[in-house]
Amino acid sequence: MLKNIDKIMDKIARLKEQRNAIILAHNYVGSEVKTIADVVCGSLGMINAGRNTNADVIVVCGVDFMVENVAILNPDKIVLNPVEKAICPLAQRITVKEIQAAKMSYPDAHTLLYMNSSADAKAKADCVCTADNAVKMVTELNGGLPILFGPDYCLSYFIRKRTAHTIINVPINSYCPIHHKLSYEDILKAKMKYPNAEIVGHPECRPEVQDCVDFLGSSTETIEYCKHSDSIEFLVADEVGSLEVLRERIPNKTFNPTSTPMVCHGMKKAKLTDVLNVLETNDNQVIIPKETAINAKNAIDKMFTLS
Ligand code: SF4
Repeated sequence: MLKNIDKIMDKIARLKEQRNAIILAHNYVGSEVKTIADVVCGSLGMINAGRNTNADVIVVCGVDFMVENVAILNPDKIVLNPVEKAICPLAQRITVKEIQAAKMSYPDAHTLLYMNSSADAKAKADCVCTADNAVKMVTELNGGLPILFGPDYCLSYFIRKRTAHTIINVPINSYCPIHHKLSYEDILKAKMKYPNAEIVGHPECRPEVQDCVDFLGSSTETIEYCKHSDSIEFLVADEVGSLEVLRERIPNKTFNPTSTPMVCHGMKKAKLTDVLNVLETNDNQVIIPKETAINAKNAIDKMFTLS
């Protein structure tokens, strides 16, 4: 079995070189795929890597909207999705119709979308954001006008607690079903079990969970925070992939889950064989229709301008 994996890895390495390809992987993807990736990071890091690469072929291991983001930024490159059905249910919760209806109701408002949204939705936005920069984007965009924000009401709660700006959720209450599984009671139980641990969490967690953790941030910000914190033991209120990355990058500290580990199945769909397959065949190449790509890219570029 191991030999088989080694063979697949060798083939992937050879194809990467032959095709001038790179592999981007989100922190939440399965550990085997992370071992062959050139870059392992959060959504913002993936966009940065996708923007700055000289590769001709980019394999994006994550969920649908992440592959779309890289395709939007690289219309002249081959962008490959190892598994077509790797879907983020949160990203699918906001539709173009909902955005258009909200804009009709609030014609003066800015439209800011979380990166976890489709290319079609992004094409209707003024700007996009990640968990890393959501508060900054709201502050920079504001100009005294309300902000239509979607699709995650939990991230919206995180922003509201840090700014006084008027934010209108579109839709009203959609959320990440994985982070939503974690309850306030889970945190209390975990605190009893590990009384000395510092609790770090993601802003996609429920508001009542956000209110009782010690640090909230994107998976990338959490890594930096834990590296520099004086604590040596942490409870991690985030997807299990984050826990793996924390354990690997900060081996001198201890990281425990806050509950039964939260697993995003969409993120775990891509296997080594899928990466090899798309590199061999160009199956699942993602091409965004030109007009959508131009408008969505404007929203992404605006985020970088305001950063
Ligand atoms: Fe989407 Fe939640 Fe999975 Fe992130 S963890 S990709 S928001 S379903």
